Amino acid sequence: LLTVGGLEKNFGTNRVVDGVDFEVRRGEVVVLIGPSGSGKTTVLRCLNGLEIADAGRVAFDGGPAIDFGRRVSKADRRALRDRSAMVFQHHNLFPHRTVLQNVVEGPVHAHGVGRGEAVARAEALLARVGLGEKRNAYPFELSGGQQQRLGIVRALALQPDLLLFDEPTSALDPELVGEVLAVLKELAEEGWTMVIVTHELSFARKVADEVLFFDRGAIVERGTPGELFTRPQHERTRRFVDSIL
Ligand code: ATP
Repeated sequence: LLTVGGLEKNFGTNRVVDGVDFEVRRGEVVVLIGPSGSGKTTVLRCLNGLEIADAGRVAFDGGPAIDFGRRVSKADRRALRDRSAMVFQHHNLFPHRTVLQNVVEGPVHAHGVGRGEAVARAEALLARVGLGEKRNAYPFELSGGQQQRLGIVRALALQPDLLLFDEPTSALDPELVGEVLAVLKELAEEGWTMVIVTHELSFARKVADEVLFFDRGAIVERGTPGELFTRPQHERTRRFVDSIL
C-alpha cells in the first residue's frame, strides 16, 4: 500500500529523520517504537503531509510517487492527505461541536459527502465504539478514553486507506488505556492498515505484523514482535526493550 524511501527531515540543523525506508502492505499493522525524540512522530507527520520532508520518497499504491527532493506541489500534498487519517495523542476535537458534528465535519467538508450519508455513517461508527448515546454531548462531557475513541471514529469516518496513530494512549489515565487499545485491536482484526507509534509494547506484541525500532532518526532494527522483543540483535534495541518491558 505504501512505500517510504530515504526519508529525511531537518529542523534547523537538527536532522530528526535520517534516511528512513519501510513498506506497509494492505491490512498490515506496523508499530514504531523507540526513545523519545527519535523521530517517530515526525515520520507519521511526513506521511500525512502535515510536515514536508526534505528528501526521500513516499508513494501510495495508485497515487503519485512524491519526491521530497523536488518542490512538493499543493496537489501532491493533497494526494498524501487524502490517503491517510491521523489520530493524535490529544485527539484535537472541536470543543464547541457535538460528538456527532465532530465526526460529520470531515467527510462533509473535506470529501464532499452528503450530510445525510455522513450522519448515517457517523452514527454507525459511534455505536460501534459504544458512543451512540453520546451523539449530542460535547467533548468536555466525555472521559479521556471516550474522547480518544471519538478521535478514532473521526479518522475512520474519512474512510482512509491508512490509519496513523501517534501515541494514542499516552495522554490517558492508566485505567482508560485498555478501552482504547481494545478498539485498535478490533480495527487490526478487521483488516485496517495501520501505522502506530506507541510505548505500549505488550500491545505491540499482540497486534503488530512488523515493529520498527527508531533511534536518532533512523530505523536501527526491524522485525516481527517475536524477533524484536525476545531476540533483539542490537544493543540499543535490547536496552530500550529491557527498560520498558
Ligand atoms: P516522542 O516519543 O517523544 O513523541 P518522537 O520519536 O515521536 O518522540 P519526534 O516528535 O518526531 O520524536 O521529534 C524528533 C525531534 O524533532 C525532537 O528532538 C524534537 O524536539 C524535534 N522536533 C519535532 N518537531 C519539531 C518542530 N516543529 N520544530 C523543531 N523541532 C522539532
